Amino acid sequence: MNPSQDIIYLDYAATTPVDPQVVHTMLQLQGAAGDFGNPSAMHSAGWRSRAHVDNAAQQLAELLGTDAERLIWTSGATESNNLAIIGTARHRQHHGRHLITMLTEHKAVTDVFRALQQQGFEVTWLRPERNGVLDIATLEAAIRADTQLVSIMHVNNETGVCQDIAALGACCHARGVRLHVDAAQSVGKLPLNLAELPIDLMSMTAHKLYGPKGIGALYIAKRPDLHLEPLLFGGGQQQRLRPGTLPVPLIAGFGHAAAIAAARMADDLAHLTRLRDRLWAGISDLPGVQLNSDPALSYPGLLNASVADIEGESLLLALEPLCVATGSACNAQNQEPSYVLRAQGLSDAAAQGAIRFSLGRPTTTAEVDCAINLYRQAVRTLRALAPDGAA
Ligand SMILES: *Cc1c(COP(=O)(O)O)cnc(C)c1O
Repeated sequence: MNPSQDIIYLDYAATTPVDPQVVHTMLQLQGAAGDFGNPSAMHSAGWRSRAHVDNAAQQLAELLGTDAERLIWTSGATESNNLAIIGTARHRQHHGRHLITMLTEHKAVTDVFRALQQQGFEVTWLRPERNGVLDIATLEAAIRADTQLVSIMHVNNETGVCQDIAALGACCHARGVRLHVDAAQSVGKLPLNLAELPIDLMSMTAHKLYGPKGIGALYIAKRPDLHLEPLLFGGGQQQRLRPGTLPVPLIAGFGHAAAIAAARMADDLAHLTRLRDRLWAGISDLPGVQLNSDPALSYPGLLNASVADIEGESLLLALEPLCVATGSACNAQNQEPSYVLRAQGLSDAAAQGAIRFSLGRPTTTAEVDCAINLYRQAVRTLRALAPDGAA
């Protein structure tokens, strides 16, 4: 499943190619010869489709250590975040209108909270420590009697930094507050056992784990005081929480990708750790280069590094045919330095020169070596071009 030969793709945190076995599963469900029926229909074609949906829910539930009934299908992590956050805020608004999140969340969380602020909700924005990790004491101090929801991501999409979800959730639950986790970057990549973790709501997406784009899920824990207002109204599917005809091929693809991820997780992590360490060893001696996340605190598939005095956008262009990112894919259109790195206390200059390398299951040693050479060459070229001739 290697991406085409003329590019070196190290942007797996933006999206992944679909695993060929998953493509096969999805193709089987597309045409007239496949199980194309509407899974809500009360006849054998419908029941056959329904069986694929149930099987996929079982596969995803097994990966996460939960029950299939706890999962709602959505179009991706953006929709799951919207449903979890807005759905909770609206349902709980008569109990209180205070919500808590972090400055370093993905736009699919920060923009939801911004929209709620405009609707009269009060949001506290927590700042992580310089290493990107949120201190439990910071969260503890922010929780009030009227706090209804805390939303904290698991793995950061720009830096790879992991939050201590177990400790944060325990802190929330001790005060009767719900915890939502955006786990788009960690599901299928790091162990996540929902039977043990104090998580109430968790967002995920298939296209970051070698599944198709356009399908995600929201986990909703079974607790008596946990209810959401739906955002969409329609045919009443999925306990009325997210109506609409289920996209069976996408769901089956997500389920299969989850099963593969569960089987391969330990091997994937070992492979990524080896390659990430090789990449850093290959660029760390460049003058002015700095690592923007502590490898001991981060998901090993991601490495974010800056070089002083070089602007990320220029670096990105000079790196072609290497496909990497500055900031997140969602920031790519503007020249602003990454708000995530700024919130971690990086200077504008350091944040501006940041490059995110994200490695994946298909990444080879040869690709990493090639990326090292391209990066070294690009830094040298841009330094030589700099007006002050900095060497
Ligand atoms: C990719 C990503 C999203 C958005 O997921 P979609 O499925 O593309 O909507 C949300 N949060 C994080 C942390 C992500 O990495």
